[in-house]
Formats: sequence, C-alpha cells, structure tokens
Amino acid sequence: MAQKSLIALSQLSRTEKRLVNAARRAVLNAYCPYSNFAVGAAVLTVGGKIFPGCNVENCSFGAAMCAERVAVFKAVSEGYRPKMIAIYAPDAPKRAISCGCGLCRQVIAEFGLDIVVLKLRNDGLVIRKTLSQLFPNAFVPGILLSKQKVQGVHHGKSKKTRR
Ligand SMILES: [Zn+2]
Repeated sequence: MAQKSLIALSQLSRTEKRLVNAARRAVLNAYCPYSNFAVGAAVLTVGGKIFPGCNVENCSFGAAMCAERVAVFKAVSEGYRPKMIAIYAPDAPKRAISCGCGLCRQVIAEFGLDIVVLKLRNDGLVIRKTLSQLFPNAFVPGILLSKQKVQGVHHGKSKKTRR
C-alpha cells in the first residue's frame, strides 16, 4: 500500500519522531550569520544510529555547507550508511514543499534512492518521500560502477558492511 506523503507529526513512528526531533535540535547549532536561514537535519543509519547536522555558512559564500550534507558526511565518515533523513527549517514558509537542495539530493542519492526523507513543515505536517520521488532520473553510482567493471577498474568499495 502506498504511504501518504503528507502526514501529521503524531502519525510518525517512534523512530521517525526521534529523527525529526534530532533535526529540530540541530537547528540550534546552525551557523548562518549571512542568510539567517537556519536548517537542521538528522540522518538515521541502517543500524539505527542518529547523526545530526546543521548548515554551516562562511564569509566565502561558496564554502558554505547544507545541514543535510553535514549530517550525511558525519554518518558516512564514521562508517555508517544513511537510511532516512529528517530536515527542519524553522524560517521556511509555513507550507514550503522544498525537501533539500539539488546538491543534497545528489549526495543522498549516492547511498540509495530508497532513502526516506522527512521534512517537517512549519504547519506541523511532515512530508515523507523517498529519494526516488524527490530526485527522479538521478545520476547514481551504478552508472559509473558498471563502466569500471567493464574496464576491470577497482572501485574502492568498502570492506565494511552497511550499518
Ligand atoms: Zn542542500
């Protein structure tokens, strides 16, 4: 059965609520003196661990990093793989439908188009969609990896299991 993509906060599972709350807390650490647009995110890993992230801006604007990517990079750099990600932007319009920028979607897509994105809106409702819904026709690892396989190139796949 297809899941509804716009749901009440109270309808989320316990784990989903934990993740959304982690994203809400992460907003408090946002470093955004230039945009004043704080964003919090939190990644749930395959093994159930949560990694929060916030946006980190820079006086050299191009060096800024989104909350979503901070959270994903934290999880991956610790040897984990994302399964779900929650996003919260308290200053976004009440019913904004945005679920992260294109760069963040590309980064999340690296780890699976089945990753679930939860975006807490400011009307209290949550958008719940998979990456494949948010990022159709994505450029995914299989495109490069199949090419390398043909050429016999080692693709540096981690020995670690997904956790
Ligand atoms: Zn982004």
